[in-house]
Amino acid sequence: MASTRFVYDFDEPSAGGRELLGGKGAGLAEMTQMGVPVPAGFTITTDACRAYMSNGKTLPDGLGEEIERHVSALQEKAGKRFGDANDPLLVSVRSGAAVSMPGMMDTILNLGLNDEAVQGLAGTTGNERFANDSYRRLIQMYGEVVDGIDGHGFEQELTDLKRARGVAQDVDLTADDLADLIETYKAIYNEETGRDFPQDAREQLTRAVRAVFDSWDSPRAQVYRRTYGIPDDLGTAVNVVQMVFGNKGDESGTGVAFTRDPSTGEQGLYGEFLPNAQGEDVVAGIRTPAPLAEMRGKLPHAFEQLLETMRRLEEHYRDMQDIEFTVEDQELYLLQTRSAKRTAAAAVKAAVDMVDEGLISREDAIARIDPAQLDQLLHPMLDPTAHWEVAAKGLNASPGAASGKIVLDADTAELRGKAGESVILVRWETTPDDIHGLIQAAGILTAHGGMTSHAAVVARGMGKPCVAGCDALSIDISARTITLGGQTLSEGDVLTIDGGTGAVIVGEVPLVAPQVNDDLETVLGWGDEHRRLRVRANADTPEDAAKAREFGAEGIGLCRTEHMFMAEERLPVVREMIMADGEEGRRKALDKLLPMQQGDFEAIFEAMAGLPVTIRLLDPPLHEFLPSLEQATDERMRRRIKQLQEANPMLGTRGCRLGLQWPEVYEMQVRAVIRAARAVEERTGEAPLVEIMHPLVAFEEELRRLRELTVHVAEQEAPEVEYLCGTMIELPRACVRADEIAAQADFFSFGTNDLTQTALGFSRDDAEGKFLTYYLEEGVLKKNPFETLDVSGVGDLMRIAVERGRATKPHLKLGICGEHGGEPKSVAFCHELGLDYVSCSPYRVPLARLAAAQAALAERGAAEYAASH
Ligand code: PEP
Ligand code: MG
Repeated sequence: MASTRFVYDFDEPSAGGRELLGGKGAGLAEMTQMGVPVPAGFTITTDACRAYMSNGKTLPDGLGEEIERHVSALQEKAGKRFGDANDPLLVSVRSGAAVSMPGMMDTILNLGLNDEAVQGLAGTTGNERFANDSYRRLIQMYGEVVDGIDGHGFEQELTDLKRARGVAQDVDLTADDLADLIETYKAIYNEETGRDFPQDAREQLTRAVRAVFDSWDSPRAQVYRRTYGIPDDLGTAVNVVQMVFGNKGDESGTGVAFTRDPSTGEQGLYGEFLPNAQGEDVVAGIRTPAPLAEMRGKLPHAFEQLLETMRRLEEHYRDMQDIEFTVEDQELYLLQTRSAKRTAAAAVKAAVDMVDEGLISREDAIARIDPAQLDQLLHPMLDPTAHWEVAAKGLNASPGAASGKIVLDADTAELRGKAGESVILVRWETTPDDIHGLIQAAGILTAHGGMTSHAAVVARGMGKPCVAGCDALSIDISARTITLGGQTLSEGDVLTIDGGTGAVIVGEVPLVAPQVNDDLETVLGWGDEHRRLRVRANADTPEDAAKAREFGAEGIGLCRTEHMFMAEERLPVVREMIMADGEEGRRKALDKLLPMQQGDFEAIFEAMAGLPVTIRLLDPPLHEFLPSLEQATDERMRRRIKQLQEANPMLGTRGCRLGLQWPEVYEMQVRAVIRAARAVEERTGEAPLVEIMHPLVAFEEELRRLRELTVHVAEQEAPEVEYLCGTMIELPRACVRADEIAAQADFFSFGTNDLTQTALGFSRDDAEGKFLTYYLEEGVLKKNPFETLDVSGVGDLMRIAVERGRATKPHLKLGICGEHGGEPKSVAFCHELGLDYVSCSPYRVPLARLAAAQAALAERGAAEYAASH
């Protein structure tokens, strides 16, 4: 049996793609094979990383020899020898997983330098300063990444040296200064590790490869994977790439570029460039780079090459690219290309433009937009009618606005964010170690760094507002204060940021919900032609109904009536009803509620004219309408509260159980619905499409009785009003006995919140704050089942319900109104199940429309594939 092959040169085709070579390795190989200028090198596969991990962190057999063979081939290509004292071959060792995890794993540059090779490099380049600079960078990076030395010691020495020499910038240090620094760095290395800095280039390489594999398991990479749902067992590839030098002098440089603006999607030059510098200077925000356009004047030849290469890459990948490049002595080299992380607005605009440019089809455009990202487009903005004063301006790094309390470190952001406070994380600059704080912050403000800095990239990916590079901001971490354009503020004071304009405002500013933009409407419109699922909204008020319609909702799938019972002026009447001694007393109170409910329904029917509205009758346990025992003022109230108390109220007297015991409540509600329907028809000439829904049904007999009640009241009120009578399916028994229940129902709507709670035995009120967090952190479960449908468990129950329900009534209308109705993966599952509609919160309607279209297209694609094979 042939043993597994672990290493591929960039110019060797491999069948494994990005799963095997990682995104970066696959990109370098593809570019090399396209003829784009890329430095020579090879990729050690993710297979090798997985073997290393499962071997208890030992390199798999044969890998050492295989690397050695590829080093030899690289030496041939480069015409230089690894570790050579006269003209050394230097390499970078770069991580690269199948899924991009920006900044999460490690990279080491200039590998192959030692005390002798540094002289050789100085000799061949005629630039001693550059050679020394490369070596001191290696010692620091290697020390940090391979030996885990804290980088601050190195940074401090560099800062001290600059101060001692009276210079501001790294580039102002001379060759001799840097030679001194090398000695200091080697001493730090020795002190920290008890060993001398390794002089053997092959030892450096082997240890660097292991360190990159190890970085796959670093805490920050784990947090990142958990946040983005990336499986832990993918592993990273390692790319060994011949070094090209952007810090060789004024004819060299380094930069990053996007083929389109990642914030807006507009075409044009977008990126940053640093002359005479190496890549990590840009990424780490150590020096503030110039806009890419400035490269045109400084390095015209390389600039033209760059534009041409960007055009070719977009054409080849038919997608917006994010590239890293280096210019060495006027020659351009691409170090990386990948599909660019972009805001939702940019994704939508670029997709629409690319259809116009003939680069992609409409179906491609629909498939390309991440529905989960659309949430971003629906983020709050500053209320344009409010007044505010801009205290300072930074870069508009990630759109949306947020108000919150200032916090100055990631731990505090995490703590307060988890406690439910809205916080703005204010930092000099963020690093990947801040990831846990970034996740919890409502917005991010940094003093330093550009549009491609860590804070900016991560915030855009998360869809959070971010203002970066705010010069007027300074932070005094020991006093826990900041100054902003002359004003001093303390941690805990409120700040507002607008990531769309870069404005920073002291105090709170009212926010407004944004409108659907035209490009999004265009793509959603294209998608609507393909989707089979209808999309409705969960809405309890005329305002929500109107918003939902604006977003394209095709009806209301869940109008929860309990919220109407909670309104301030109604609660006393509801309490009067609950406190009543008998049916007569309850009816008196209900008579007062009837016109109020009727008014609510009329307004909702009018807002949804022409579209179906599902009204769900009262569901929660009654104690929710009463004060707590401690807050109750009189003895009678306390007695009633005690009577109603249940150990498990969510499994207790609620839903249809309540409706059956106190039928006058549901009677009042049905009466209000029917009267409202008749009134609206009389007023507008259009009959509302009414659906009355009974909650928490487990047995056919429950629904039979409630249907009887419904029909009886409707007949009494207005026999001419048409309506459907159906049920929530939110208990496992209801799924299993859907055949019987369907006999009494015109429609089913899956209540997957309760169905998840009851099928898994996870309390929906407590699980997420308790053991479920542990389950997710420890990987017992990959996804929160209250967020993404547990397809194999709850999903199977739904499948049974669909099959059995439709066996009784082939045309039974089926929908979902649990939170999952607005989650892309769950929407795809609902499509597969053959439901008629999903219903979700108004702001998620665009997302559900897109997810439903994508599911339909994916199904068509699979069918076409099957037919052609
Ligand atoms: C459900 O249980 O999924 C549902 C939609 O109803 P509620 O969340 O109101 O219980
Ligand atoms: Mg429910």
